[in-house]
Amino acid sequence: MSTVNDALEDARFTYEQHMHTCRQCHADAAPCAVAKHLLRIYNLARRDHLRSAGRNAPTA
Ligand SMILES: [Zn+2]
Repeated sequence: MSTVNDALEDARFTYEQHMHTCRQCHADAAPCAVAKHLLRIYNLARRDHLRSAGRNAPTA
């Protein structure tokens, strides 16, 4: 059951790759539309991951 974690890692990798390679993000010193889109996906994946982790091993 590592599907959620894989999605999280994939989303983070995609976002970080964009931040490293996107000229517009560097030029404007602010996230471009693509970066915002990728960040939103990453945040959603992270939320799902936290919810899944909490269900499997509650630490709170
Ligand atoms: Zn960008």
